[in-house]
Amino acid sequence: MSLDSLHFDNSFIHTLPGDQQTDNSRRQVYGSCYSYVAPTKVRQPKLIAFSPEAAELLDLNEQACLSNLFTEIFAGNSLLPDMEPFAMCYGGHQFGNWAGQLGDGRAINLGEIVNKKRERWMLQLKGAGPTPYSRRADGLAVLRSSIREFLCSEAMYHLGIPTTRALSLIATGEPVLRDMFYDGHPKNEPGAVVCRLSPSFTRFGNFEIFTSRKEIDILAQLVDHTIQTDFPHLAEPDEDTYLQWFSEICTRTAEMIVHWMRVGFVHGVMNTDNMSILGLTIDYGPYGWLEGYDPRWTPNTTDFTTLRYAFGNQPNVAMWNLTQLANSLLPILGSADEIQKILETSYRQEFITRWQDMMAAKLGLAQYIAQYDEALFSELLEILANTETDMTVFFRQLAAIHPDTITTEFSQLPEPLVMAYYRPEEINEEYLKRFSRWLLAYGHRIKTDASSRDDRVKKMNNTNPKYVLRNYLAGEAIELAENGDYSRIMELLDLLRNPYDEQPEKQHFYQKRPEWARHKPGCATLS
Ligand code: AMP
Ligand code: MG
Repeated sequence: MSLDSLHFDNSFIHTLPGDQQTDNSRRQVYGSCYSYVAPTKVRQPKLIAFSPEAAELLDLNEQACLSNLFTEIFAGNSLLPDMEPFAMCYGGHQFGNWAGQLGDGRAINLGEIVNKKRERWMLQLKGAGPTPYSRRADGLAVLRSSIREFLCSEAMYHLGIPTTRALSLIATGEPVLRDMFYDGHPKNEPGAVVCRLSPSFTRFGNFEIFTSRKEIDILAQLVDHTIQTDFPHLAEPDEDTYLQWFSEICTRTAEMIVHWMRVGFVHGVMNTDNMSILGLTIDYGPYGWLEGYDPRWTPNTTDFTTLRYAFGNQPNVAMWNLTQLANSLLPILGSADEIQKILETSYRQEFITRWQDMMAAKLGLAQYIAQYDEALFSELLEILANTETDMTVFFRQLAAIHPDTITTEFSQLPEPLVMAYYRPEEINEEYLKRFSRWLLAYGHRIKTDASSRDDRVKKMNNTNPKYVLRNYLAGEAIELAENGDYSRIMELLDLLRNPYDEQPEKQHFYQKRPEWARHKPGCATLS
Protein backbone atom coordinates (compact mmCIF):
# COMPACT_ATOMS: atom_id res chain seq x y z
CA MET A 1 0.00 0.00 0.00
CA SER A 2 1.15 3.56 -0.50
CA LEU A 3 1.25 6.34 2.07
CA ASP A 4 -1.81 8.15 0.79
CA SER A 5 -4.01 5.12 1.35
CA LEU A 6 -3.39 5.12 5.12
CA HIS A 7 -6.69 5.29 6.94
CA PHE A 8 -6.63 7.78 9.80
CA ASP A 9 -9.35 7.87 12.44
CA ASN A 10 -7.59 10.07 15.06
CA SER A 11 -9.94 8.93 17.77
CA PHE A 12 -7.89 10.33 20.68
CA ILE A 13 -8.30 13.93 19.60
CA HIS A 14 -11.80 13.45 18.23
CA THR A 15 -13.07 11.97 21.50
CA LEU A 16 -11.18 13.86 24.18
CA PRO A 17 -11.05 17.56 25.13
CA GLY A 18 -8.15 19.52 23.65
CA ASP A 19 -6.30 22.75 24.32
CA GLN A 20 -8.23 25.80 23.08
CA GLN A 21 -5.02 27.76 22.71
CA THR A 22 -3.25 26.85 19.48
CA ASP A 23 -0.06 28.89 19.58
CA ASN A 24 3.09 26.89 20.27
CA SER A 25 4.13 28.64 23.49
CA ARG A 26 5.42 26.76 26.52
CA ARG A 27 2.86 26.82 29.25
CA GLN A 28 0.68 24.95 31.71
CA VAL A 29 -2.19 23.44 29.75
CA TYR A 30 -5.33 22.92 31.82
CA GLY A 31 -8.48 20.96 31.15
CA SER A 32 -7.05 19.23 28.08
CA CYS A 33 -5.67 15.88 27.06
CA TYR A 34 -3.57 17.38 24.25
CA SER A 35 -2.53 20.48 22.28
CA TYR A 36 -2.42 20.84 18.51
CA VAL A 37 1.12 21.47 17.32
CA ALA A 38 2.87 21.05 13.99
CA PRO A 39 6.30 19.46 13.58
CA THR A 40 9.16 21.87 12.81
CA LYS A 41 10.48 21.60 9.27
CA VAL A 42 14.09 20.53 8.78
CA ARG A 43 16.64 21.49 6.17
CA GLN A 44 18.00 18.27 4.73
CA PRO A 45 16.25 15.09 5.81
CA LYS A 46 17.89 11.82 4.92
CA LEU A 47 16.48 8.37 5.59
CA ILE A 48 19.04 6.37 7.55
CA ALA A 49 16.99 3.27 8.30
CA PHE A 50 13.50 1.89 8.44
CA SER A 51 12.06 -1.26 9.93
CA PRO A 52 10.23 -3.37 7.32
CA GLU A 53 8.36 -5.23 10.10
CA ALA A 54 7.14 -1.95 11.59
CA ALA A 55 6.19 -0.68 8.12
CA GLU A 56 4.09 -3.79 7.66
CA LEU A 57 1.97 -2.70 10.63
CA LEU A 58 0.97 0.27 8.49
CA ASP A 59 0.53 -1.97 5.42
CA LEU A 60 3.48 -0.15 3.82
CA ASN A 61 5.92 -1.99 1.60
CA GLU A 62 9.59 -1.28 1.02
CA GLN A 63 8.89 0.86 -2.01
CA ALA A 64 6.69 3.19 0.04
CA CYS A 65 9.40 3.49 2.69
CA LEU A 66 12.04 4.39 0.14
CA SER A 67 9.92 7.13 -1.41
CA ASN A 68 10.74 10.77 -1.07
CA LEU A 69 7.37 11.38 0.51
CA PHE A 70 8.13 8.92 3.32
CA THR A 71 11.29 10.80 4.27
CA GLU A 72 9.51 14.15 4.10
CA ILE A 73 6.64 13.00 6.29
CA PHE A 74 8.64 11.17 8.92
CA ALA A 75 11.17 13.99 9.20
CA GLY A 76 8.26 16.32 9.98
CA ASN A 77 8.42 18.29 6.73
CA SER A 78 5.04 17.40 5.33
CA LEU A 79 1.72 16.03 6.45
CA LEU A 80 -0.75 13.75 4.78
CA PRO A 81 -4.18 15.39 4.41
CA ASP A 82 -5.71 13.40 7.30
CA MET A 83 -2.88 13.93 9.77
CA GLU A 84 -3.77 16.18 12.71
CA PRO A 85 -0.58 16.55 14.73
CA PHE A 86 -0.76 17.01 18.48
CA ALA A 87 1.23 16.68 21.71
CA MET A 88 -0.19 14.97 24.79
CA CYS A 89 -0.53 16.50 28.22
CA TYR A 90 0.72 14.32 31.07
CA GLY A 91 2.42 14.59 34.42
CA GLY A 92 4.52 12.17 36.36
CA HIS A 93 6.51 11.15 39.39
CA GLN A 94 10.19 11.52 38.61
CA PHE A 95 12.64 9.73 40.92
CA GLY A 96 9.92 9.43 43.54
CA ASN A 97 8.68 13.03 43.49
CA TRP A 98 5.62 14.52 41.88
CA ALA A 99 6.93 16.65 39.00
CA GLY A 100 3.69 18.30 37.83
CA GLN A 101 3.04 18.78 34.12
CA LEU A 102 5.56 17.12 31.79
CA GLY A 103 3.85 16.19 28.52
CA ASP A 104 5.15 15.44 25.03
CA GLY A 105 8.05 17.89 25.06
CA ARG A 106 9.80 16.36 22.11
CA ALA A 107 7.20 14.03 20.71
CA ILE A 108 4.48 14.93 18.23
CA ASN A 109 1.73 12.50 17.26
CA LEU A 110 0.86 12.63 13.58
CA GLY A 111 -2.37 10.68 13.92
CA GLU A 112 -3.89 7.28 14.51
CA ILE A 113 -4.36 4.81 11.72
CA VAL A 114 -6.41 1.65 11.54
CA ASN A 115 -4.68 -0.98 9.39
CA LYS A 116 -6.07 -3.78 7.24
CA LYS A 117 -6.18 -6.09 10.24
CA ARG A 118 -8.23 -3.43 12.07
CA GLU A 119 -5.33 -2.76 14.41
CA ARG A 120 -4.87 0.77 15.70
CA TRP A 121 -1.46 2.42 15.49
CA MET A 122 -0.52 5.89 16.64
CA LEU A 123 2.29 7.45 14.61
CA GLN A 124 4.59 9.63 16.67
CA LEU A 125 7.67 11.65 15.76
CA LYS A 126 10.33 12.00 18.44
CA GLY A 127 12.62 15.01 18.04
CA ALA A 128 10.47 17.02 15.60
CA GLY A 129 10.65 20.32 17.46
CA PRO A 130 9.12 22.14 20.43
CA THR A 131 5.59 21.82 21.79
CA PRO A 132 3.74 23.61 24.59
CA TYR A 133 5.24 20.92 26.88
CA SER A 134 8.90 21.49 25.99
CA ARG A 135 9.58 23.57 29.10
CA ARG A 136 13.13 24.93 28.77
CA ALA A 137 14.31 22.34 26.26
CA ASP A 138 14.40 22.37 22.45
CA GLY A 139 12.13 19.49 21.46
CA LEU A 140 14.93 17.95 19.41
CA ALA A 141 16.79 14.65 19.50
CA VAL A 142 20.37 13.85 18.59
CA LEU A 143 21.46 11.08 16.26
CA ARG A 144 23.02 8.94 19.01
CA SER A 145 19.89 8.75 21.17
CA SER A 146 17.73 8.21 18.08
CA ILE A 147 19.86 5.28 16.91
CA ARG A 148 19.55 3.79 20.39
CA GLU A 149 15.76 4.17 20.41
CA PHE A 150 15.34 2.88 16.86
CA LEU A 151 17.48 -0.24 17.33
CA CYS A 152 16.33 -1.13 20.82
CA SER A 153 12.60 -0.83 20.07
CA GLU A 154 12.90 -3.32 17.25
CA ALA A 155 15.34 -5.55 19.14
CA MET A 156 12.89 -5.78 22.03
CA TYR A 157 10.09 -6.68 19.66
CA HIS A 158 12.11 -9.50 18.14
CA LEU A 159 12.97 -10.72 21.64
CA GLY A 160 9.23 -11.07 22.21
CA ILE A 161 9.06 -8.24 24.75
CA PRO A 162 6.09 -5.84 24.75
CA THR A 163 7.35 -2.53 23.37
CA THR A 164 6.54 0.51 21.31
CA ARG A 165 7.92 0.12 17.78
CA ALA A 166 10.21 2.17 15.57
CA LEU A 167 9.30 2.77 11.94
CA SER A 168 12.06 5.07 10.75
CA LEU A 169 15.25 6.87 11.61
CA ILE A 170 15.88 10.06 9.69
CA ALA A 171 18.81 12.48 9.95
CA THR A 172 17.59 16.07 9.89
CA GLY A 173 20.77 17.63 8.49
CA GLU A 174 20.58 20.15 11.32
CA PRO A 175 22.82 20.55 14.34
CA VAL A 176 21.52 20.11 17.88
CA LEU A 177 23.43 21.67 20.77
CA ARG A 178 24.01 19.22 23.62
CA ASP A 179 26.14 19.14 26.74
CA MET A 180 26.62 15.37 26.65
CA PHE A 181 28.60 15.18 29.90
CA TYR A 182 26.83 18.06 31.69
CA ASP A 183 30.23 19.64 32.24
CA GLY A 184 29.57 23.04 30.69
CA HIS A 185 31.03 22.14 27.27
CA PRO A 186 28.07 21.84 24.92
CA LYS A 187 28.76 20.93 21.33
CA ASN A 188 26.77 20.55 18.17
CA GLU A 189 25.69 17.06 17.30
CA PRO A 190 23.77 15.77 14.27
CA GLY A 191 19.99 15.84 14.79
CA ALA A 192 17.56 13.04 13.96
CA VAL A 193 13.89 12.12 14.15
CA VAL A 194 12.52 8.67 14.93
CA CYS A 195 8.96 7.73 14.07
CA ARG A 196 7.56 5.48 16.79
CA LEU A 197 4.43 3.36 16.58
CA SER A 198 2.24 2.17 19.39
CA PRO A 199 -1.42 1.23 19.75
CA SER A 200 -1.37 4.08 22.26
CA PHE A 201 1.25 6.23 23.93
CA THR A 202 -0.88 6.80 27.03
CA ARG A 203 1.21 6.69 30.20
CA PHE A 204 0.44 6.44 33.91
CA GLY A 205 1.18 10.16 34.03
CA ASN A 206 -1.68 10.93 31.61
CA PHE A 207 -4.09 9.96 34.41
CA GLU A 208 -2.07 11.42 37.26
CA ILE A 209 -2.11 14.94 35.87
CA PHE A 210 -5.91 15.24 35.96
CA THR A 211 -6.31 13.92 39.49
CA SER A 212 -3.55 16.23 40.71
CA ARG A 213 -5.46 19.15 39.18
CA LYS A 214 -8.84 17.87 40.41
CA GLU A 215 -10.02 17.66 36.79
CA ILE A 216 -11.94 14.49 37.55
CA ASP A 217 -14.40 14.79 34.67
CA ILE A 218 -11.52 14.71 32.21
CA LEU A 219 -9.90 11.84 34.09
CA ALA A 220 -13.15 9.90 33.66
CA GLN A 221 -13.29 10.66 29.94
CA LEU A 222 -9.69 9.54 29.45
CA VAL A 223 -10.33 6.32 31.38
CA ASP A 224 -13.40 5.47 29.29
CA HIS A 225 -11.62 6.28 26.07
CA THR A 226 -8.63 4.15 27.07
CA ILE A 227 -10.82 1.18 27.89
CA GLN A 228 -12.80 1.51 24.67
CA THR A 229 -9.81 1.85 22.35
CA ASP A 230 -6.94 0.06 24.12
CA PHE A 231 -8.85 -2.56 26.14
CA PRO A 232 -11.87 -3.21 23.89
CA HIS A 233 -12.25 -6.75 25.21
CA LEU A 234 -13.44 -5.32 28.54
CA ALA A 235 -17.20 -4.80 28.49
CA GLU A 236 -19.03 -1.49 28.56
CA PRO A 237 -17.57 0.55 31.41
CA ASP A 238 -19.18 0.00 34.79
CA GLU A 239 -17.61 -0.15 38.24
CA ASP A 240 -16.47 -3.74 37.86
CA THR A 241 -14.94 -3.06 34.48
CA TYR A 242 -12.75 -0.39 36.00
CA LEU A 243 -11.34 -2.80 38.55
CA GLN A 244 -10.81 -5.45 35.86
CA TRP A 245 -9.05 -2.84 33.80
CA PHE A 246 -6.73 -1.89 36.63
CA SER A 247 -6.05 -5.55 37.25
CA GLU A 248 -5.07 -6.02 33.62
CA ILE A 249 -2.69 -3.05 33.76
CA CYS A 250 -1.02 -4.69 36.77
CA THR A 251 -0.69 -8.04 35.01
CA ARG A 252 0.66 -6.52 31.83
CA THR A 253 3.21 -4.55 33.82
CA ALA A 254 4.26 -7.70 35.67
CA GLU A 255 4.69 -9.49 32.36
CA MET A 256 6.85 -6.69 30.95
CA ILE A 257 9.12 -6.54 34.00
CA VAL A 258 9.60 -10.32 34.01
CA HIS A 259 10.77 -10.06 30.39
CA TRP A 260 13.23 -7.32 31.33
CA MET A 261 14.61 -9.48 34.14
CA ARG A 262 14.88 -12.42 31.75
CA VAL A 263 17.11 -10.66 29.24
CA GLY A 264 18.97 -8.30 31.58
CA PHE A 265 17.35 -5.10 30.36
CA VAL A 266 17.55 -2.02 32.57
CA HIS A 267 15.16 0.77 31.56
CA GLY A 268 17.05 3.39 33.52
CA VAL A 269 14.26 5.98 34.02
CA MET A 270 11.16 4.24 35.29
CA ASN A 271 9.35 7.46 36.13
CA THR A 272 5.56 7.21 35.97
CA ASP A 273 5.56 9.29 32.79
CA ASN A 274 7.62 6.51 31.21
CA MET A 275 5.19 3.71 32.13
CA SER A 276 2.80 2.66 29.37
CA ILE A 277 -0.79 1.89 30.31
CA LEU A 278 -0.52 -1.09 27.94
CA GLY A 279 2.53 -2.54 29.69
CA LEU A 280 4.82 -1.72 26.77
CA THR A 281 8.45 -0.78 27.13
CA ILE A 282 8.45 2.92 26.29
CA ASP A 283 10.92 5.82 26.11
CA TYR A 284 14.30 4.39 25.37
CA GLY A 285 16.70 6.82 27.02
CA PRO A 286 19.62 5.83 29.23
CA TYR A 287 18.65 2.15 29.12
CA GLY A 288 21.28 -0.56 29.16
CA TRP A 289 21.82 -4.31 29.22
CA LEU A 290 23.47 -6.14 32.05
CA GLU A 291 26.90 -7.33 31.15
CA GLY A 292 28.19 -8.67 34.44
CA TYR A 293 25.17 -9.95 36.35
CA ASP A 294 24.67 -7.32 39.07
CA PRO A 295 21.27 -6.42 40.54
CA ARG A 296 22.70 -3.04 41.61
CA TRP A 297 23.73 -2.04 38.10
CA THR A 298 22.19 0.94 36.33
CA PRO A 299 23.36 2.64 33.16
CA ASN A 300 21.92 5.97 34.33
CA THR A 301 24.63 8.19 35.80
CA THR A 302 22.06 10.49 37.42
CA ASP A 303 20.87 7.49 39.46
CA PHE A 304 24.30 6.30 40.66
CA THR A 305 23.81 7.47 44.22
CA THR A 306 20.27 6.18 44.80
CA LEU A 307 20.14 3.16 42.43
CA ARG A 308 16.38 3.63 42.37
CA TYR A 309 16.13 2.27 38.85
CA ALA A 310 18.89 -0.36 39.06
CA PHE A 311 18.25 -3.79 37.52
CA GLY A 312 17.21 -5.59 40.69
CA ASN A 313 14.94 -2.79 41.83
CA GLN A 314 12.75 -2.75 38.73
CA PRO A 315 10.07 -5.10 40.11
CA ASN A 316 9.66 -2.93 43.23
CA VAL A 317 9.65 0.30 41.30
CA ALA A 318 6.91 -1.01 39.02
CA MET A 319 4.83 -1.73 42.14
CA TRP A 320 5.50 1.79 43.41
CA ASN A 321 4.50 3.23 40.04
CA LEU A 322 1.32 1.15 39.91
CA THR A 323 0.48 2.45 43.37
CA GLN A 324 0.78 6.04 42.11
CA LEU A 325 -1.46 5.13 39.20
CA ALA A 326 -3.94 3.55 41.62
CA ASN A 327 -3.96 6.71 43.74
CA SER A 328 -4.75 8.79 40.71
CA LEU A 329 -7.53 6.39 39.65
CA LEU A 330 -9.12 6.30 43.08
CA PRO A 331 -11.98 8.63 42.08
CA ILE A 332 -12.89 6.13 39.33
CA LEU A 333 -12.03 2.81 40.95
CA GLY A 334 -13.69 3.68 44.24
CA SER A 335 -12.57 1.20 46.83
CA ALA A 336 -9.03 1.54 48.20
CA ASP A 337 -9.29 -1.93 49.72
CA GLU A 338 -10.11 -3.50 46.39
CA ILE A 339 -7.22 -1.65 44.77
CA GLN A 340 -4.83 -2.88 47.41
CA LYS A 341 -5.97 -6.44 46.80
CA ILE A 342 -5.50 -6.08 43.06
CA LEU A 343 -2.00 -4.68 43.48
CA GLU A 344 -1.17 -7.62 45.68
CA THR A 345 -2.62 -10.35 43.47
CA SER A 346 -2.46 -8.97 39.92
CA TYR A 347 0.95 -7.41 40.33
CA ARG A 348 2.97 -8.79 43.23
CA GLN A 349 1.78 -12.41 43.13
CA GLU A 350 1.55 -12.44 39.37
CA PHE A 351 5.10 -11.13 39.11
CA ILE A 352 6.44 -13.78 41.46
CA THR A 353 4.72 -16.65 39.64
CA ARG A 354 5.78 -15.41 36.24
CA TRP A 355 9.33 -14.78 37.44
CA GLN A 356 9.58 -18.34 38.77
CA ASP A 357 8.30 -19.77 35.50
CA MET A 358 10.71 -17.58 33.58
CA MET A 359 13.70 -18.71 35.67
CA ALA A 360 12.63 -22.32 35.27
CA ALA A 361 12.59 -21.77 31.50
CA LYS A 362 16.05 -20.17 31.60
CA LEU A 363 17.30 -23.39 33.15
CA GLY A 364 15.31 -25.50 30.71
CA LEU A 365 12.99 -26.95 33.36
CA ALA A 366 9.49 -27.99 32.39
CA GLN A 367 8.05 -26.25 35.43
CA TYR A 368 8.90 -24.52 38.67
CA ILE A 369 8.80 -26.73 41.74
CA ALA A 370 9.18 -24.65 44.88
CA GLN A 371 10.80 -27.26 47.10
CA TYR A 372 13.74 -27.64 44.72
CA ASP A 373 13.88 -24.46 42.74
CA GLU A 374 13.71 -21.69 45.28
CA ALA A 375 17.15 -22.61 46.56
CA LEU A 376 18.43 -23.53 43.10
CA PHE A 377 17.62 -20.09 41.68
CA SER A 378 18.80 -18.01 44.61
CA GLU A 379 22.10 -19.87 44.87
CA LEU A 380 22.73 -19.45 41.13
CA LEU A 381 22.06 -15.71 41.26
CA GLU A 382 24.43 -15.34 44.19
CA ILE A 383 27.10 -17.27 42.33
CA LEU A 384 26.63 -15.08 39.25
CA ALA A 385 27.06 -11.93 41.31
CA ASN A 386 30.06 -13.35 43.15
CA THR A 387 32.50 -12.65 40.34
CA GLU A 388 31.72 -10.54 37.28
CA THR A 389 29.90 -12.97 34.99
CA ASP A 390 28.27 -12.00 31.72
CA MET A 391 24.57 -12.73 32.11
CA THR A 392 23.73 -13.23 28.44
CA VAL A 393 26.75 -15.40 27.66
CA PHE A 394 26.42 -17.45 30.84
CA PHE A 395 22.82 -18.53 30.33
CA ARG A 396 23.29 -19.17 26.64
CA GLN A 397 26.38 -21.28 27.25
CA LEU A 398 24.75 -23.19 30.07
CA ALA A 399 22.70 -25.08 27.50
CA ALA A 400 25.94 -26.44 26.04
CA ILE A 401 26.73 -28.27 29.28
CA HIS A 402 25.50 -31.79 29.78
CA PRO A 403 24.78 -31.54 33.50
CA ASP A 404 24.42 -35.30 33.87
CA THR A 405 28.06 -35.64 32.81
CA ILE A 406 29.05 -33.65 35.87
CA THR A 407 29.34 -36.22 38.62
CA THR A 408 31.92 -34.78 40.96
CA GLU A 409 33.19 -31.38 42.04
CA PHE A 410 35.49 -29.92 39.40
CA SER A 411 38.71 -27.94 39.68
CA GLN A 412 38.31 -25.86 36.50
CA LEU A 413 35.43 -24.00 34.97
CA PRO A 414 33.54 -26.13 32.44
CA GLU A 415 34.92 -25.12 29.05
CA PRO A 416 31.68 -23.73 27.53
CA LEU A 417 31.34 -21.24 30.38
CA VAL A 418 34.85 -19.78 30.38
CA MET A 419 33.90 -17.05 27.91
CA ALA A 420 31.34 -15.62 30.35
CA TYR A 421 33.88 -14.61 32.99
CA TYR A 422 35.36 -11.11 33.11
CA ARG A 423 37.87 -11.76 35.88
CA PRO A 424 39.33 -15.25 35.48
CA GLU A 425 41.93 -14.38 38.13
CA GLU A 426 39.11 -14.33 40.71
CA ILE A 427 38.07 -17.92 40.05
CA ASN A 428 39.51 -19.67 43.08
CA GLU A 429 39.00 -23.05 44.68
CA GLU A 430 36.22 -21.81 46.92
CA TYR A 431 34.30 -20.42 43.96
CA LEU A 432 34.73 -23.63 41.96
CA LYS A 433 33.58 -25.72 44.88
CA ARG A 434 30.45 -23.66 45.32
CA PHE A 435 29.70 -23.56 41.62
CA SER A 436 30.29 -27.25 41.03
CA ARG A 437 27.94 -28.05 43.89
CA TRP A 438 25.34 -25.94 42.22
CA LEU A 439 25.86 -27.71 38.89
CA LEU A 440 25.59 -31.07 40.62
CA ALA A 441 22.32 -29.98 42.19
CA TYR A 442 21.12 -28.71 38.83
CA GLY A 443 22.05 -32.00 37.18
CA HIS A 444 20.15 -33.81 39.88
CA ARG A 445 17.14 -31.55 39.45
CA ILE A 446 17.12 -32.18 35.71
CA LYS A 447 16.78 -35.90 36.31
CA THR A 448 13.49 -35.25 38.12
CA ASP A 449 12.28 -33.10 35.24
CA ALA A 450 9.96 -34.38 32.56
CA SER A 451 11.67 -32.97 29.45
CA SER A 452 14.28 -34.64 27.25
CA ARG A 453 17.68 -33.06 26.74
CA ASP A 454 16.68 -31.85 23.28
CA ASP A 455 13.57 -30.20 24.62
CA ARG A 456 15.51 -28.65 27.44
CA VAL A 457 18.13 -27.16 25.16
CA LYS A 458 15.44 -25.89 22.82
CA LYS A 459 13.60 -24.29 25.71
CA MET A 460 16.78 -22.66 27.03
CA ASN A 461 17.76 -21.30 23.63
CA ASN A 462 14.31 -19.85 23.12
CA THR A 463 14.48 -18.16 26.51
CA ASN A 464 18.11 -17.06 26.71
CA PRO A 465 18.92 -14.83 23.73
CA LYS A 466 22.30 -15.15 22.09
CA TYR A 467 22.32 -11.59 20.74
CA VAL A 468 21.19 -8.48 22.60
CA LEU A 469 21.89 -4.82 21.89
CA ARG A 470 24.89 -4.63 24.15
CA ASN A 471 25.78 -1.14 25.22
CA TYR A 472 29.06 -1.19 23.33
CA LEU A 473 27.42 -2.53 20.14
CA ALA A 474 25.09 0.46 20.06
CA GLY A 475 28.09 2.67 20.89
CA GLU A 476 30.08 1.39 17.91
CA ALA A 477 27.13 1.83 15.54
CA ILE A 478 26.75 5.41 16.79
CA GLU A 479 30.41 6.25 16.34
CA LEU A 480 30.35 4.96 12.77
CA ALA A 481 27.11 6.82 12.03
CA GLU A 482 28.48 10.08 13.37
CA ASN A 483 31.23 9.66 10.78
CA GLY A 484 28.70 9.12 8.02
CA ASP A 485 28.68 5.32 7.90
CA TYR A 486 25.20 3.99 8.67
CA SER A 487 25.85 0.41 7.62
CA ARG A 488 26.27 -0.95 11.14
CA ILE A 489 22.76 0.17 12.07
CA MET A 490 21.31 -2.05 9.37
CA GLU A 491 23.70 -4.85 10.27
CA LEU A 492 22.60 -4.77 13.93
CA LEU A 493 18.93 -4.49 13.00
CA ASP A 494 19.42 -7.61 10.92
CA LEU A 495 21.34 -9.45 13.66
CA LEU A 496 18.76 -8.61 16.30
CA ARG A 497 15.90 -9.77 14.11
CA ASN A 498 16.72 -13.34 15.18
CA PRO A 499 18.20 -12.99 18.65
CA TYR A 500 17.63 -16.62 19.63
CA ASP A 501 19.21 -18.12 16.50
CA GLU A 502 22.82 -19.25 16.38
CA GLN A 503 23.75 -17.13 13.32
CA PRO A 504 27.29 -18.64 13.24
CA GLU A 505 28.43 -16.14 10.60
CA LYS A 506 27.77 -13.36 13.13
CA GLN A 507 29.60 -15.00 16.01
CA HIS A 508 31.80 -11.91 16.48
CA PHE A 509 28.78 -10.13 17.96
CA TYR A 510 28.52 -12.89 20.55
CA GLN A 511 31.09 -12.06 23.16
CA LYS A 512 31.17 -10.37 26.52
CA ARG A 513 31.88 -6.65 26.57
CA PRO A 514 35.45 -5.96 25.42
CA GLU A 515 37.62 -4.26 28.05
CA TRP A 516 37.99 -1.04 26.05
CA ALA A 517 34.26 -0.45 26.49
CA ARG A 518 34.22 -0.92 30.26
CA HIS A 519 34.29 2.80 31.10
CA LYS A 520 33.80 4.40 27.72
CA PRO A 521 30.98 7.01 27.93
CA GLY A 522 28.08 6.01 25.74
CA CYS A 523 29.23 2.37 25.85
CA ALA A 524 29.02 1.98 29.60
CA THR A 525 26.87 4.72 31.09
CA LEU A 526 24.57 7.50 29.98
CA SER A 527 22.44 10.21 31.47
P1 AMP B 1 12.21 11.58 29.60
O1 AMP B 1 12.84 11.40 30.94
O2 AMP B 1 13.16 11.57 28.45
O3 AMP B 1 11.09 10.63 29.38
O4 AMP B 1 11.60 13.06 29.57
C1 AMP B 1 10.94 13.68 30.63
C2 AMP B 1 10.22 14.90 30.15
O5 AMP B 1 11.13 15.83 29.56
C3 AMP B 1 9.15 14.65 29.11
O6 AMP B 1 8.09 15.54 29.32
C4 AMP B 1 9.86 14.97 27.82
O7 AMP B 1 8.97 15.34 26.80
C5 AMP B 1 10.74 16.15 28.23
N1 AMP B 1 11.94 16.26 27.39
C6 AMP B 1 13.01 15.47 27.36
N2 AMP B 1 13.90 15.90 26.45
C7 AMP B 1 13.38 16.99 25.87
C8 AMP B 1 13.81 17.90 24.85
N3 AMP B 1 14.98 17.77 24.23
N4 AMP B 1 12.98 18.90 24.51
C9 AMP B 1 11.80 19.06 25.13
N5 AMP B 1 11.34 18.26 26.10
C10 AMP B 1 12.12 17.23 26.47
MG1 MG C 1 9.53 10.18 28.80
